[in-house]
Amino acid sequence: MKRWIFGMLAGASFVMMLGAAALWVETRASYRNVRFERTVAVEGNRPTWECIDISAAGGVVQAGRMRMSNSPNGTLPARWNVSSHKSPGTGRILPEVWLGFGYFDRTWNASPTIERRTTVLSAPLWIIVPALGIAPTLWTRGALRRRRRAWRECHGLCVGCGYDLRASSGACPECGLEQPAPQQQARA
Ligand SMILES: [Zn+2]
Repeated sequence: MKRWIFGMLAGASFVMMLGAAALWVETRASYRNVRFERTVAVEGNRPTWECIDISAAGGVVQAGRMRMSNSPNGTLPARWNVSSHKSPGTGRILPEVWLGFGYFDRTWNASPTIERRTTVLSAPLWIIVPALGIAPTLWTRGALRRRRRAWRECHGLCVGCGYDLRASSGACPECGLEQPAPQQQARA
């Protein structure tokens, strides 16, 4: 059951890795953005407008949240927006990025009554892509090991080192490993 869950996660991670790799190539010289805007709270006629924004440009992904209290635009309907530009950098919010890593959190007053807050976190795709590859790599390695072990067991070889056990019984004379019970009984 646990292995099944890990397999699902590894598969999902692999798909995300492929998507991130494609995004990496695509946004080396362009900009892509997905944002979701909504009005989160209404106190009388003073709504707080919020925008969740995920964008990729120049091989960097950034996720940000912008909030504006006492929005002068009133209560706006929730909406999704997807956009892309051919030049990187358009719409980049982060003022400082170190190798693509960045964190930015700022609150200020756009007017005496309007408070704005912007929180942005960014990471480079050159680290996101390999990170998403960790789980699929571990899963593949585990699957190959299980397969090798089953093959050795089936062919009368030590499951640990592959030593030929057809002429011996009990633990492996080469590495000392006790063999799985069904194997010992079958060979005894
Ligand atoms: Zn052995």
